[in-house]
Amino acid sequence: MTKNFPASDPGSRPGIQCELLFVSSGSAGGDLLLPGGQGTEMKECTKCHVVKGLEEFSQLKKSADGLRPECRHCRHVEYIANRDRYSEYHKARYEANKEERKKQSAQWVKDNPERASETRKKYYAANSEKIKERAARWYAENKERAAQRGKKYREDNREECAERAARWLAAHPEKVAEYSAQYRRANPDKRRETIARYYTENKDKVLGSNARYRAENPEKRRETTAKYRSENPDKAARNRVLRRTRLQQACVPWADQEAISEIYKLRDKLTTELGVPHHVDHIVPLKSKLVCGLHVHNNLQVIPAVDNMKKHNGFSCE
Ligand SMILES: [Zn+2]
Repeated sequence: MTKNFPASDPGSRPGIQCELLFVSSGSAGGDLLLPGGQGTEMKECTKCHVVKGLEEFSQLKKSADGLRPECRHCRHVEYIANRDRYSEYHKARYEANKEERKKQSAQWVKDNPERASETRKKYYAANSEKIKERAARWYAENKERAAQRGKKYREDNREECAERAARWLAAHPEKVAEYSAQYRRANPDKRRETIARYYTENKDKVLGSNARYRAENPEKRRETTAKYRSENPDKAARNRVLRRTRLQQACVPWADQEAISEIYKLRDKLTTELGVPHHVDHIVPLKSKLVCGLHVHNNLQVIPAVDNMKKHNGFSCE
């Protein structure tokens, strides 16, 4: 095969034809002694016959001067012209020495971890689409094995996986809300169980945060109560009667009405001056398992609404 050098090559002689061989071997071109003491720093290419600096020739250990006879440019031109044959040749050589090559590669990766990581990154950046496609295909064809691998990985790297999951959850609040809602809809019984368990294990916390929410959102609370009453008129009526009865039973003729009204005034004063809702609370609840408190001034105290709601005995005398 013959080929003209591109005219743009500054080192080439126009018109010289260069024989391109598939595998170059054999003796090196002779070193050229040039005037001016440059001596062995120059060498003539056996293909294009241009005299070039030694850095223009790649290494060939078995040759006399340790360099290839043809220059890098000629080699490149030849490689481009015979790319497919080179590729086949290298593939065949690789197949013939597969195991040995693999061992060598593994050793190299072990000896050069940083360079290996860099190479891997570069390869991934250049071929990410191809790699993703290949991985997706593998997963689709090996679902069982993929699941097993995933399980084993999670077992072996518990902490790392937990951290990664936490990071993902924090970064995707909308998706989390969506998935949670889906799960709740699909598993209503589980949800009830979870809520019940959480309540028993964290009673104080739940009562506290519920009370805080009610105290901070009085309109919401009124809405909810109104909704409950309109949806459960029977229960609402019964509760009303119970509450009235309880209060009637707790009221005694000897109660100091004036002292009681002073306490209610104090509640209004604190609510206005502090800007925080306060309730009049029965120290001993009107309804309790052991004793029933009375609606008398020394069983009354003024406390922030949030604390009263936390008591959860369901009754405050407002
Ligand atoms: Zn050349």
